[in-house]
Amino acid sequence: MRLTNKHILITAAGQGIGRASAIACAREGAHVIAADINAEALSTLGAEQDGIETRVLDVRDPNAIEALAADCVPLDGLFNCVGVVHTGTILDLNDEEWAFSVDLNVTSMVRMTRAFLPAMIERAKSTGTCSILNMASMASSIKGFPVRTAYGATKAAVIGLTKGVAADFVKDGVRCNALCPGTVDTPSLRGRISTAADPVQAEKDFIARQPMGRLATVDDMTPMIVYLLSDESQFVSGQALLVDGGVTI
Ligand code: NAD
Repeated sequence: MRLTNKHILITAAGQGIGRASAIACAREGAHVIAADINAEALSTLGAEQDGIETRVLDVRDPNAIEALAADCVPLDGLFNCVGVVHTGTILDLNDEEWAFSVDLNVTSMVRMTRAFLPAMIERAKSTGTCSILNMASMASSIKGFPVRTAYGATKAAVIGLTKGVAADFVKDGVRCNALCPGTVDTPSLRGRISTAADPVQAEKDFIARQPMGRLATVDDMTPMIVYLLSDESQFVSGQALLVDGGVTI
């Protein structure tokens, strides 16, 4: 198996891409620490797949992050998956919404990385390589999308953060990459569709922006996630990897 003996922490693991990643990594032999703010969403995860330990965590709470880091074995992999979509142009964006997007999408990753990185550096001295994966998006510095100003700006910051961490710790054996998905069929996407003025048209519009003519599934994402968290990618760092179904061809 590709992740045997690896301890991997994944945020936003209650649903969507994070949940699918927790299951995929555990199937590849990892011991997964699945963290999410939603205890109910986590409650069924352990029964779905062996090798998953669940932890309720609000990634906006610095003390909770520090406490979790103090309570965890040194990680081989950290997947900062959490993120929120703000819908609107810059004229629809108030300071509170902007600050919330920055805090959840970027600052949480700064705090998580700061808390877990020192032990990962130590771990890499014996294993040779550790991996941090940050969730960005095709909507970022890669490409702009309508009504995604806060989302695109914060995901662009995730890519910058990724490259900075990668540059600073490459000699310590710690790699850091970002994943940039296309439009993925997850509960939050379904929420954006169902709350649109015309949900049928909204779904058509999301599909229309995917040249392959369909939404991505979470299983379209997990092979790249497993790869980036495994030693197969040990010569890959500082990259923003697109799995976008051809949007940016
Ligand atoms: P989702 O939005 O459906 O689920 C997000 C999870 O995060 C939920 O389980 C929620 O409880 C958890 N969460 C929210 N706030 C939290 C907090 N403060 N602390 C801890 N957990 C918290 O998941 P998704 O759609 O798979 O998105 C996951 C990531 O992928 C996000 O960063 C998103 O921006 C990114 N992404 C998604 C898409 C897509 O089309 N779905 C595309 C590109 C990138």
